[in-house]
Amino acid sequence: MNSSRAAADSYLRSIDTEVQAQLQVDGCPAVVLQQTCFYPEGGGQPFDTGTIAGVPVLAVQAHATGEIVHTLAQSLPAGTLRVTASIDWVRRFDHMQQHSGQHILSQSFLQVAGAATAGFHLSAQRVTIDLAHAAFSPEQLAQVEQLANHIVQSNLPVHVSFPGPAELAALQLRKVPEVDAPLRVVSIGKFDRTACAGTHVAYSAEVALIKIIKVERSKSGQRVEFCCGQRALEDYQRKHATLSRAAAALSCAPGDVDGLLAQQLAAQQQLAKQLRAARDELLQHECALLLSQADSSSGRRVVCRAWNARAPEELRELARLLAVQPGVVALLGCAGEQARVVLACAADLALDMRPLLTGLLQQLGGERGGGQQRLAQGGGFKAAESALQAALDAVAAALPPAVGAGS
Ligand SMILES: [Zn+2]
Repeated sequence: MNSSRAAADSYLRSIDTEVQAQLQVDGCPAVVLQQTCFYPEGGGQPFDTGTIAGVPVLAVQAHATGEIVHTLAQSLPAGTLRVTASIDWVRRFDHMQQHSGQHILSQSFLQVAGAATAGFHLSAQRVTIDLAHAAFSPEQLAQVEQLANHIVQSNLPVHVSFPGPAELAALQLRKVPEVDAPLRVVSIGKFDRTACAGTHVAYSAEVALIKIIKVERSKSGQRVEFCCGQRALEDYQRKHATLSRAAAALSCAPGDVDGLLAQQLAAQQQLAKQLRAARDELLQHECALLLSQADSSSGRRVVCRAWNARAPEELRELARLLAVQPGVVALLGCAGEQARVVLACAADLALDMRPLLTGLLQQLGGERGGGQQRLAQGGGFKAAESALQAALDAVAAALPPAVGAGS
């Protein structure tokens, strides 16, 4: 039986102690120490990492027997009796800042919005609390954040106690877990009292800053992502750098980025609209030009044309515009690495574009194609402009004779 001294002294970074047992956990070497300063995973807080006799500690778990088992990167030398166990202090202090900040934030949500914290999760990437609450207004969130940071700046002492049952009833804890063992109560001045086994800072000012990052709906209500201390500073640094880059790109002050961006997006949408209108007009003209040059020797007007580089949607639109005209067959293609063909015909013609497309794709080595009787298209092959034009000409030459309609 042993216990972690992390709960009694969060600032204990290293101890000399005896090796109680060396064992294997899931095929990895592990060790139980007479005492440890490592915090085992629990209560929403991840385990500490660090070293034991210089060997990296990969995981720390409290077993049901009460033993704290440290999983190691490699076995300790046989016969090792005493070791120095040292935690990764940067990681531990980060956990202390996030965890203490969580207590303050949870009490702030309770006081401002009457929202109780139902869950807490802390990882290297994210810190979140789940609140049983339908929604928060931006004003409520601002108030919560203001109160939480006021408590941080008030530098309240963080105190740990183990009250007896009678005393416990009078304390009005924010959260009371169902356990038989004596409850460990963490108090932040008179602001918040809750049962918790994690590691915390000694004074609230060590949390430095509490910033709400994101609020989203969750199964139980609302999930609030936040960050404290060093994480909040790094978050600020990243966001400041991003905003500075955006401001430099827009040649404006950081505070004007959103306004200028909104203006530019509106201008961009307007330009896109104008561009679409101009392109539509251009396609109408091109359509008229192609029709004037169409081969009408078969009694239909056949437009057969390959281009070197052309957007697929433009090819399709051109085919559609041509086939609106009576008696027109449009056999269009775009050459290149990603060649495409579009075959279309007017509604008054008794033609089916699908078998023509199938034959064409077989000849060109195309893999993908399909469509309707009057408009079929395909791709998945590469072709030079001249080869594609020749293939389309061959389709035109092989069209079945016109039978009355359109002639
Ligand atoms: Zn805690």
